[in-house]
Amino acid sequence: MTIAIVGAGLGGLALARVLHVNGIDSVVFERESSRDARGQGGMLDLDSRTGQRALREAGLIEEFYAIARGQGQDMRLLKPDGTLLLQEDTPDDAPMLRPEVDRGDLRDMLLDSIPERTVRWGYAFKSAEGGVLHFADGRSERCELLVGADGAESKVRPLLTDARPRHIGQNVVELGIPDIDRTYPELAAMVGRGNYWVPGDRQALSAQRNGDGRVRVYLSFYKTGEDWFEKSEIPFDDPARAKARLIELYAGWDPRITALIAACDDTVVPRSLTTLPVGVTWPSTPGVTLLGDAAHLMPPVGHGANMALLDGALLGLALAAQPDDFPAAVKEYEREMFERTGKIGRLSAEMQEMLESPDAAEKLLEFFQPA
Ligand SMILES: Cc1cc2nc3c(=O)[nH]c(=O)nc-3n(C[C@H](O)[C@H](O)[C@H](O)COP(=O)(O)OP(=O)(O)OC[C@H]3O[C@@H](n4cnc5c(N)ncnc54)[C@H](O)[C@@H]3O)c2cc1C
Repeated sequence: MTIAIVGAGLGGLALARVLHVNGIDSVVFERESSRDARGQGGMLDLDSRTGQRALREAGLIEEFYAIARGQGQDMRLLKPDGTLLLQEDTPDDAPMLRPEVDRGDLRDMLLDSIPERTVRWGYAFKSAEGGVLHFADGRSERCELLVGADGAESKVRPLLTDARPRHIGQNVVELGIPDIDRTYPELAAMVGRGNYWVPGDRQALSAQRNGDGRVRVYLSFYKTGEDWFEKSEIPFDDPARAKARLIELYAGWDPRITALIAACDDTVVPRSLTTLPVGVTWPSTPGVTLLGDAAHLMPPVGHGANMALLDGALLGLALAAQPDDFPAAVKEYEREMFERTGKIGRLSAEMQEMLESPDAAEKLLEFFQPA
């Protein structure tokens, strides 16, 4: 084995796929026990210039269009008092600039595009030295190049940099309404086919329709500390009371908006958000590199998955172009990746700042509809 990829997320799989189509074998070590071990979460919008570019390089763009939802680009922007600021409905023949795709479908598409033997499930990477990888259960493997594609809490990252993710002062509660067209048709019509967004004063509610008829509801609390969930008095072990408490935290909002919280089922998940500092780099080191969230964890404003896919595809192409000189290929990949993701990281930080401001709704309207 020469190339070991740690993590079968979007970035790691994009790399394995591009290597495969270029006739290069790799092995992906994934800590989960199987592809279905964990739900993969909601929808992602893939940009034609980044995430979709990666899928074109991977020879998968037609497969992607078959699972993407153009109407997922629809958007409604409201104020907490219910005023509709912006409604964008995507015509059926609109170009697929940022269509939505179910994260699970996208991962399955990538997994199905590489030989089954490529992914080794149940391998939790622990450490590496001198080209030997050590796994949590005591197994070890050798490789020539180790690629850390192991996400936000990367265990490969410390081999290259001391940078660590830090809390960004945003805490999110994720809930969902299953089969909304049947269970709450009036709320289904209100949310629409794509994204429903209500930014308020240091808190927001957003709802997003998924391909399976579920609407995911995200409640964001900005300028809140790492210990906010402990202080917030949300009883996560008692979903009915947790929802009642969340509705209390949205006091004064239009009841049609908070009705979305009341309609959610019993899955109430707290998420504390962290990011890496913008523009993390490291001196190129033969034998190891990073991609995706492991390299540049950003606020979730729509770029992370796009960047992870593109990192994977571009690293794959760089290695295929110089199969006899991995260190040179990695150096070339890192140079472009640092520049591209540094720029996107700064843009994401600006968007995050906008979302945190007391007049986020007006700022977003200006952003989407510049004068
Ligand atoms: C709420 C939310 C919404 C988001 N929405 C969007 C969006 O709309 N658009 C967008 O572009 N981005 C979005 N993002 C960001 C996006 O999800 C990530 O940037 C993207 O998934 C990163 O991909 P990755 O391959 O680097 O890591 P991941 O997808 O996190 O994959 C990492 C993989 O590594 C495995 N792993 C971890 N540790 C180990 C280990 N020690 N050994 C072996 N395997 C390991 C994990 O099990 C996982 O399979 C969102 C993020 C959040 C939190």
